[in-house]
Amino acid sequence: MQEAIAGVLPPECELTKVELEGPQVVVYVKNIQAFYSDENLITKIASKVRKKVLLRVDASELTPPTKSLARIKELIPEDAGVQDVKFDPIFNEIVIEALKPGLVIGKGGTVLKQIVLNTGWSPRVLRAPTSPSEIEKAIRNSLLVASEERKKFLNSLGKKMTLNSGSSCDWIKITMLGGFKEVGRTCMLVQTPRSNVLVDCGMNTDTSDPARAYPYLTAMNLALEQLDAVILSHAHLDHCGFVPYLYAYGYDGPVYCTPPTRDLAILLQQDCLNVMNSEGKGCPFGEKDIKKQLNHFIVRDYGEVTDVTPEIRFTFQNAGHILGSSLVHLHIGEGLHNLVFTGDLKYGRTSLLDPADTRFPRIETLIIESTYGGRKDLLPWFNDCEARLIQLIHETIAQRGKVLIPVFAVGRAQEIMISLEQKLSAENVPVYIDGMSKEASAIHTVYPEYLKRNIQRRILQNNSPFDNPMFKHVVSKERKSIAESEEACVVLAPSGMLSGGTSVEFLKMMANDPKNSLIFVGYQGAMTLGRRIQAGERDVPMLNEKQKLDSLKINMQVHTVEGFSGHSDRSQLMAFVRNLRPHPQRILTMHGDENKTDDLARSLSHMMRVEARGPMNLDTVRLR
Ligand SMILES: [Zn+2]
Ligand SMILES: [Zn+2]
Repeated sequence: MQEAIAGVLPPECELTKVELEGPQVVVYVKNIQAFYSDENLITKIASKVRKKVLLRVDASELTPPTKSLARIKELIPEDAGVQDVKFDPIFNEIVIEALKPGLVIGKGGTVLKQIVLNTGWSPRVLRAPTSPSEIEKAIRNSLLVASEERKKFLNSLGKKMTLNSGSSCDWIKITMLGGFKEVGRTCMLVQTPRSNVLVDCGMNTDTSDPARAYPYLTAMNLALEQLDAVILSHAHLDHCGFVPYLYAYGYDGPVYCTPPTRDLAILLQQDCLNVMNSEGKGCPFGEKDIKKQLNHFIVRDYGEVTDVTPEIRFTFQNAGHILGSSLVHLHIGEGLHNLVFTGDLKYGRTSLLDPADTRFPRIETLIIESTYGGRKDLLPWFNDCEARLIQLIHETIAQRGKVLIPVFAVGRAQEIMISLEQKLSAENVPVYIDGMSKEASAIHTVYPEYLKRNIQRRILQNNSPFDNPMFKHVVSKERKSIAESEEACVVLAPSGMLSGGTSVEFLKMMANDPKNSLIFVGYQGAMTLGRRIQAGERDVPMLNEKQKLDSLKINMQVHTVEGFSGHSDRSQLMAFVRNLRPHPQRILTMHGDENKTDDLARSLSHMMRVEARGPMNLDTVRLR
């Protein structure tokens, strides 16, 4: 590869080395001025080596940090709002955190180019959250501290990926390890003669039965060391919750996902660990495993084609479900087979995200979620459901009651916050936000390019809807006084299915008062407390203060407003498949109760005139 690159580079660039860092190639030169005399050089190298190419200046030519810092200050405009500048001598990078990264980058990257030309350091620009975020700070620091370890990992992964290249791929199979004919623990193994790749590795946090909580990893008949990669569709725990376990038991390969998925996954896993430990359940992984996983993330934006093994490459496309959620397009065996795995999918209007993409270069097999795949699973229009939610809140507030809305901290919380901000901010109704929603919202402001245009614009103008003063973040000692005060208010608290978390704490304190309302806005999993109350139970088992089993009477009003879901309803799922281009030749359904996966498969088969079915966990399907 070094020879190939040397052939393209003019000798005056003084190429010193070529390194592989995971799926990308890094070219080190001494003379950066000479390199930039040809604008198209990077593109020429990339098309020669058919990989993503990064350029770095050889360490011997880097300007010392203090001098570089002074130059950088002159180059970056004042109003970019630079918050922090750190040097990373392992990657020859300078990490610049700013409120307005666009100004650090400059028009067409002009400022960045000046930074490299003047200092030699390659700038990496990060957006600062609009409100302080502990999790962003922790992730950014940990990554910097672990640079040396990360570099070693990326170099050895790069070498490993070149082995076996060019050998032929004559079969492809997938094995369903979790999340088929059920919701939770989504996990699928993709295999070719020389690749073993997991797509998603989730955990079902709504059950205490270990036989139903984790994917069937032992059924792989592989040691975890033999896995080549994990690819994540999105950050919800039923898709990524079990990844740290892999690191606890011998896996040390990469996890591919979008940048927001990485940050949200760390947030949710950390919270899950804290909750499980505090409830005395014990968690199958520890903090050090989450940290080890963090050092093995390789992030990719939508549309970037990335080699995972010599036989498998993938591209993420927008899934419309939560921040950073992806449809995973796998291209296997140099054109032999193309598979699209939807993860969770929204093909409809939401306040936060654009609907899922439907255009792919090729698709032979589609694996699609079916949470709302049943014949009767039709959700109301978004505007109607938003109006209904506001009406219910108004009614409760008018009788000086309190509204409890159990929400997932990531996704539903932000959707509801945007609606409340638009419809209630003039009315001085306090909205208490509990749990990690504050951190999750801050992460949203770090990646505005993943959000809908109007929200993106507001964040860029430093007017993030999540920072509206109507939202009051709850600290744990305030919960009791919020629940017991006379103040009419709205409380958003996780978990969304009342399966633990502070929504249950609030429920216990608010359930008795008929002036209060409980409003469900998201999917309620089978067997969860949320589903039972939604179905009409008004006397539910509950642990009392002495941790003894007692019962809780639900005297508060109970409502369901379902159109806020981040999942497609039945008609949206059908429309998504109808509008997919090209059409798939085979459809497999997943991520739904048994009757829904079967029902959706039957209807899709009829509509598309292709083979469609809902496989079970542990089924293997040969694709080629
Ligand atoms: Zn999800
Ligand atoms: Zn899911």
